[in-house]
Amino acid sequence: MASISSIAKRLEGKVAIITGGASGIGEATTRLFIEHGAKVVIADVQDDLGQSIVKEIGENSDVCYVHCDVSVEKDVENAVNVAVSRYGKLDIMFSNAGVSEELDSTILKSDYENFKKVFDVNVFGALMCSKHAARVMIPAKKGVIIFTSSVASVTCGGTVHTYLASKHAIVGLAKNLGVELGQHGIRVNCVSPFGVPTPMLMKGLGINEKKKVEEFVCQIANLKGTISHVEDVAQTTLYLASDESKYISGMNIIIDGGFSTTNVALKQGIETLRY
Ligand code: NAD
Repeated sequence: MASISSIAKRLEGKVAIITGGASGIGEATTRLFIEHGAKVVIADVQDDLGQSIVKEIGENSDVCYVHCDVSVEKDVENAVNVAVSRYGKLDIMFSNAGVSEELDSTILKSDYENFKKVFDVNVFGALMCSKHAARVMIPAKKGVIIFTSSVASVTCGGTVHTYLASKHAIVGLAKNLGVELGQHGIRVNCVSPFGVPTPMLMKGLGINEKKKVEEFVCQIANLKGTISHVEDVAQTTLYLASDESKYISGMNIIIDGGFSTTNVALKQGIETLRY
């Protein structure tokens, strides 16, 4: 029978890379994975922030930081090599790093420079994370790759075109990879959060008070009386990373309190007819 500690520690003995692990969703997932017994390589471009998390958690053998711009293949290759040389293997690649453009960029403001910036990180970065994770997972005949997509992968109109297109692309990539890598015992899935108060959302909305961002998210959310936090995304990622989800692959898990199932325009239209 499994002991209580082995049930409580759902990633005991696993090794993970978390891109974008120095902030927001990635940081919360780093902390949760470590709590659950994983060894984590934080791969990010915010060196001071990444190193301060390592210092705070404790510079033991369970967590380390590596500078990694996911849009640069050599950096991703190096992050995977660090995981293998330091911890002996790689079980989990959480490809979570992402960027967005200004929220007011309409189609007429679209240009190649912006497209390249967003797609280089969000899509090419995800592709390179998959490539280098697969490089070591295929011989091991097991592994888990998880991407952070977005509720924007299933609900259109609420965000800017380039970012939305990049998040759709990630879901397609996950599904296609799930087919190729399933042959090697590797699962591939996405987590798709709703608005979560993080530096990225605050910057995107142009609001620098976390409380105001939370109020905005509450106002537009379907599920009332609660709010989506980074920990909610981290918990779903933990499930997908653990053996509890051992037969789940090619899925896009949407963490949006039912937002993507609503049709607000129809609901409002019917209310207008009634009253
Ligand atoms: P965040 O700004 O707190 O974290 C993003 C992290 O990615 C930062 O640490 C940043 O340094 C890192 N990063 C950016 N470019 C990078 C690069 N080239 N290489 C490596 N790291 C890089 O924001 P967050 O909200 O935690 O974002 C995490 C993911 O969640 C993103 O993919 C984002 O698109 C997605 N997401 C966020 C929300 C939300 O409302 N916050 C909703 C849906 C999806």
